[in-house]
Amino acid sequence: MEEKGTVSRNFIEQIIDKDLEEGKYETICTRFPPEPNGYLHIGHAKSILLNYGLAKKYGGKFNLRFDDTNPTKEKTEFVDSILADVKWLGADFEDRLYFASNYFEQMYEAAVLLIKKGKAFVCDLTADEIREYRGTLTEPGKESPYRNRSVEENLELFENMKNGMYEDGTKVLRAKIDMASPNINMRDPVIYRVAHMTHHNTGDKWCIYPMYDFAHPIEDAIEGVTHSICTLEFEDHRPLYDWVVREVGYEHPPKQIEFAKLYLTNVVTGKRYIKKLVEQGIVDGWDDPRLVTIAALKRRGFTPESIQMFVDLCGISKSQSSVDYAMLEYCIREDLKLKRPRMMAVLDPVKLIIDNYPNDQIEYLDVEMNLENPELGMRKVPFGRELYIDREDFMENPPKKYFRLFPGNEVRLMGAYFVKCVSFEKDETGKVTEIHCTYDPETKCGSGFTGRKVKGTIHWVAAKTAIHAQVRLYENIIDEEKGVYNEDGSLNLNPNSLTVLNDCLLEPALAEAKAYDSFQFVRQGYFCVDAKDSKEGAPVFNRIVSLKSSFKLPKAEG
Ligand code: ATP
Ligand code: MG
Repeated sequence: MEEKGTVSRNFIEQIIDKDLEEGKYETICTRFPPEPNGYLHIGHAKSILLNYGLAKKYGGKFNLRFDDTNPTKEKTEFVDSILADVKWLGADFEDRLYFASNYFEQMYEAAVLLIKKGKAFVCDLTADEIREYRGTLTEPGKESPYRNRSVEENLELFENMKNGMYEDGTKVLRAKIDMASPNINMRDPVIYRVAHMTHHNTGDKWCIYPMYDFAHPIEDAIEGVTHSICTLEFEDHRPLYDWVVREVGYEHPPKQIEFAKLYLTNVVTGKRYIKKLVEQGIVDGWDDPRLVTIAALKRRGFTPESIQMFVDLCGISKSQSSVDYAMLEYCIREDLKLKRPRMMAVLDPVKLIIDNYPNDQIEYLDVEMNLENPELGMRKVPFGRELYIDREDFMENPPKKYFRLFPGNEVRLMGAYFVKCVSFEKDETGKVTEIHCTYDPETKCGSGFTGRKVKGTIHWVAAKTAIHAQVRLYENIIDEEKGVYNEDGSLNLNPNSLTVLNDCLLEPALAEAKAYDSFQFVRQGYFCVDAKDSKEGAPVFNRIVSLKSSFKLPKAEG
């Protein structure tokens, strides 16, 4: 355990420290309360890891609770995906998986209690009238003409609401607080509405449903949540949260704490927008690797560790800001750098023939899996007379400082031999079709040859043994230069967000790669086997991230 005071604590930890010191709570309990109306995204990951991390740090508990009080949009597909995402991130909720809809009975009883205390009333105003009566930021609201109904009448009407005697929208239950409150949320907020809808969990049992501001504090209190952490837009709702837990009379009232949402620069995170991209078929589902849903990040090849690192680097704050996507890329590079093998893959192949190498000979070279991490061991890479190299590693007329292959120049073939370009052939369009080289057997990698040096090292695969694969390269789905939206409000999509390369040639060992396996392709970046489109023995690779970045970690302070 860290010594208290030696590490600076974020403001939420400071609040928890104080609460524990003062004996307000004996131990802590946090929760993640997703509404199952979409897939989770990187912002939710921050909330999950924050809540789970706090529980772990303080030896407390972390609950997963589906906030499924609103029957319109919820879908089992979303429940399943959220469960998978939370588990994948490693946020262990043990046996504490809850559904807010299981508390409908208790919420109903809490509402009845408020009516009995004279703190809630049934109101017949229409939604528009309620809005009119509510007032504005500068003007107080007007009391509803139904505000002074007797307790008995309210009890009877509320029971009738429950029993399905009224049409949707004709009656609501409202908290009786203060129509003159400077906080609009406190102006007799609606806490129950009539909605004849089928709920995914409770079916047709209920035709009244609680509003979020009433339901959420009750859910927290029932579960013994101590610190209910949410995002800043709920700050103005906190007085109502406190009012509900106080008036319903919970012995150990939970406490709401707000922090700033995570935003990524030029990256779409809102469910609404992602949904649009999915529904319009612009992306290949909620887990399209260009998105930043957790499912997409997983499919792209991000690891839970890299997301934890990212969330830690972002920190927790009270002020809204936006983080560069490059920081997320930095984290996955850091995570994979030593963990993954570095393989050879030729994405845009051109044939290279070694004229003085024996025909039909295949030689198995010993190559290190990862030069920076000997623990990963060695592998055998087949080498032969006919190879493929990347087209950009050869130039007929190279500019200055081009150290790769060109007529007359000698380079090292990674892990193999020096080769010197003696000639090349072009087709009628001027495209290079074949490069001819000679090799020097003395220069074999690992032989200790010191006779001369070359400036360039290029990667290759042997033509006979290479496997064919599709490789996909991604760019940001939003055009960074021009901003997120067009003038007409539509999303400003980057036409180059997906590049599909169908003729890539890879080391044969990669044929065995399984879904979600990831590798460095030397000089190209990190790549991950696509879980949706790969076939047995025919993997499809998604580029997670290129190798180079302009991103620099901000210097630590002090
Ligand atoms: P969205 O705005 O993307 O539709 P939401 O807030 O409606 O998301 P919920 O399912 O209601 O999604 O959110 C579950 C939890 O995740 C809430 O506690 C919410 O505050 C938190 N959360 C949502 N978006 C972010 C974000 N960008 N950064 C941090 N936490 C977030
Ligand atoms: Mg929400």
